[in-house]
Amino acid sequence: MAPLTFYSTNRSAPCVSLAEALLQGQAPDRGLYLPSEIPRVSPEELAGLRDAPYSEIARFVISQYTPDTVIDSVLDELCTDAYDFDVPLEPVGDRRFVMRLDRGPTASFKDFAARMMARMFGVLRRNADSPLVILTATSGDTGSAIAHAFYGIPNIQVMVLFPPKEVSNRQRKQMTTLGGNITIVALDGQFDDCQALVKQAFADPDLQSIDLTSANSINIGRLLPQIVYYVYAYVKLAKQGEPITLCVPSGNFGNMMGAVLARRMGIPIRRIVIATNANDEVPVYFRTREYGKIVPSRVCISNAMNVGHPSNFARVIDLYGGWMDETGLIREEPDVKHMHRDLWSVSIDDEETRRTIQEVWNRHGVLLEPHGAVGWAGLSRYIRETGETGLTLSVETAHPAKFPEEIRHLLGFDPDVPDSLSSVETKEESYLNLDNNYERFRMLIQERYG
Ligand SMILES: *Cc1c(COP(=O)(O)O)cnc(C)c1O
Repeated sequence: MAPLTFYSTNRSAPCVSLAEALLQGQAPDRGLYLPSEIPRVSPEELAGLRDAPYSEIARFVISQYTPDTVIDSVLDELCTDAYDFDVPLEPVGDRRFVMRLDRGPTASFKDFAARMMARMFGVLRRNADSPLVILTATSGDTGSAIAHAFYGIPNIQVMVLFPPKEVSNRQRKQMTTLGGNITIVALDGQFDDCQALVKQAFADPDLQSIDLTSANSINIGRLLPQIVYYVYAYVKLAKQGEPITLCVPSGNFGNMMGAVLARRMGIPIRRIVIATNANDEVPVYFRTREYGKIVPSRVCISNAMNVGHPSNFARVIDLYGGWMDETGLIREEPDVKHMHRDLWSVSIDDEETRRTIQEVWNRHGVLLEPHGAVGWAGLSRYIRETGETGLTLSVETAHPAKFPEEIRHLLGFDPDVPDSLSSVETKEESYLNLDNNYERFRMLIQERYG
């Protein structure tokens, strides 16, 4: 097999290899990378995976994108190492399931992508003379997923900036109890200040001699691992050839892109239901063909999905033959008919989210948190409106213990806290404090990594 190349959705940057796409993140023309050809898998190959553990299914899926690369030769090892936790498929009623993607070290589905991307970066930088430095600003969950994923990866250093007043104790402890190659910096300011300093560092000529990168959420390295769990769910749940309908609670649309790619690879996915919270720019677009960003984004209890312009939507538009540029402007219309056949979109407000958490607990004894509840409510709406009777699955993206106040308020008890979250309570914290001052930040980077 020839190595795959990756093109930019803006089509004015050259096609690149997987390694280049990973290390660049965004294309130089500010577009997003997609594979030039989406590999197809056969029904026989899928049938052969029925009894395989998650890590083996991950190796099978990701290897379709890595032929003839250095990553390919060690992929087995990377997958075994990255995916050492459960992926429960919980039956809820007849032919209906919830897939829990919350059993990783930071209890959110972002662990799946971050852990694989970190290991891929490690392989690509194995023989480099100097470390790659990942700089990132966080308001909570992304920082801890990145910090845990890159912890202990040779030749990589991570620095996370966080605003201490906007981050919960538990979130802070998840980052500050690691040590090693992970440096955590409490910046005397807000999330926007953290982000501004990181941006300035990337553009600073005085830091050119240090290899800085961002590992951010539009990296193709975060998408490929998010195909795997849909393939996993399919081979474990479906009878041979039986189609499945998936519902993905969505914010930046990276997770649902995993399902879109799985479908293009030949997995019999009948429909992908995209459930958003009150940030309904995409459901409105599906209804009216008018796309408008929501600025500022609406504040909802499913806070990781408070996104008024999902960056990955440009990839969706591209795969349906259109073009959305980096500002969110649709420059060429996609094939809307085709899109409507494959995708169905719905917005769920906070009231319905809360009611769903109560109903699903009371009726089925299944505990959801706000993001997963948006997914469940979206799938329920789809089933009601279309009369779907076949196999369906919605996705739970975080552990309920991350939202104890909401659960206590709605259901009257505290959710069990998994070891991954409780174990940080007793560990020692270590982090630096920094004034909101760029010169001081630059000095810190030079001292540590220069
Ligand atoms: C990031 C996140 C989402 C949204 O995922 P996207 O890929 O951005 O659509 C949903 N739920 C949780 C818990 C998250 O952390």
